[in-house]
Amino acid sequence: MHQTRIMFLSSDCGALSQTKMAQVGREAFEQTTVSQLPFSELELSKLAEEFGTPLYIIDERTLRTKVHKLKQGYSGYKGPVKIAYSIKTNFTPAVLKTFMSENTLFDLTSTGELYFYLRCGGKPENVIYTSVTETWEEFSEVLRSGIRLIVVGSSNGLSNLMGIAEKEGYNPKIMIRVDPEVGVKAEVRASRRNGRFGVPLSNNAGSLDCAAGLLRRIMASHLEFEGFHFHLGSQISDPACFLNALEKLEHFIAKMRREFPHLPVNIVDIGGGTPVNYGIRVPTPLEIGSMLEPRLNALAATLGSEFTLIVESGRYLSAEACVLLSRVLNTKNFGDQKVVFIDAGYHLLLDAVLLRQEYPQLIIPSCENEINEKIVLAGRLCDTYDTYPLSPASKVSGAEIGKLMAITHAGAYSIVFNMPFHCQTKPAIVMRKANGSYKCVRQHQTNEQLFEEEGGNLV
Ligand SMILES: *Cc1c(COP(=O)(O)O)cnc(C)c1O
Repeated sequence: MHQTRIMFLSSDCGALSQTKMAQVGREAFEQTTVSQLPFSELELSKLAEEFGTPLYIIDERTLRTKVHKLKQGYSGYKGPVKIAYSIKTNFTPAVLKTFMSENTLFDLTSTGELYFYLRCGGKPENVIYTSVTETWEEFSEVLRSGIRLIVVGSSNGLSNLMGIAEKEGYNPKIMIRVDPEVGVKAEVRASRRNGRFGVPLSNNAGSLDCAAGLLRRIMASHLEFEGFHFHLGSQISDPACFLNALEKLEHFIAKMRREFPHLPVNIVDIGGGTPVNYGIRVPTPLEIGSMLEPRLNALAATLGSEFTLIVESGRYLSAEACVLLSRVLNTKNFGDQKVVFIDAGYHLLLDAVLLRQEYPQLIIPSCENEINEKIVLAGRLCDTYDTYPLSPASKVSGAEIGKLMAITHAGAYSIVFNMPFHCQTKPAIVMRKANGSYKCVRQHQTNEQLFEEEGGNLV
């Protein structure tokens, strides 16, 4: 595998001296505690010189810290707690391997993700497989790989899983993905009445696609029922929805226990949604965990045994560890308004346009005095929508051609959306390892590689 060790030049840091740059770096770190930028300005300037821009820079230590913080948040729950990383958020192999060494579980949703996971040395016993399509072929491949914990969310999916298990002699542990149909305050909502994911806890007007229906079929088979799963949404700003969902689940379980007095509930998986501070204060894992803890312990008491609590997360675990570093290429003035064009765009950060996600942007070198100018931050694409909403934590004042623009919190739902619009090639990814060294973990895609990928050599 290609490895690049960065050799920093000892001089040539532009107009600023080394000491000055180091000071600027420290100040920036303190000023930006809201965005918790894990890199100094000096460091980012050097990396931009070495690798060019745009460039993603990931901090391994932050990835690891997040796993511990998330787990700590739920330490008030009396039973075992496991953290599961949702691969869809950032499937960079170096990131997957980092989480693997933290012994997290992994939330997988496609056989492509399964391929990445296995190629990175992931163990099948650490996977929770949750599909949307739940086809026969998909379950067949998943079971063949050795995965045994499977979440079903439709009657057709359960039929496929049961069919293969019987035909091939597998014994999967089945969880049911329920949709508690609760109101969710979040950037992305995944639970609602007649929602697309999972099956409702209600009887769903007699449809086969309801939690009780799936549960009865599993209990009547010789397959193992393992527990319940729900996922309410992403960037959840009010954790009360978790309480409502757990309460509804508890009622449902109590009702089903009348029918199946020995119904086992070994796992309760509360899905993802732990929010990230993009410049607006959000509840921390500790605050969320403390709020849920009485409800979780009460549920365990009602069940008469402690279930394993699984907390899934993608955004919280990966967002803050990564900076997308870009450079200002052009500016234009219209009265008091200044349009600043950077060499990134929504081909690198789709959520900036899709969800108007406000990523904090920081100009580097930072500007000591705020200049009174209204900045419109634009990407390099020839598309009306290619502008970046500013976050309350953004500091873009003093943006000039040649300066750097660090877009922070770019570790989640960003690299996975990289696309070649305007023949833009994928940027390199550099990881700052836990020991402080730098490693190129994805090389910059070349124009030739993109041309070939698009069939340039086939025609
Ligand atoms: C996307 C997803 C997650 C992760 O959500 P975050 O908001 O990134 O924590 C967890 N579980 C399921 C089932 C998901 O689809």
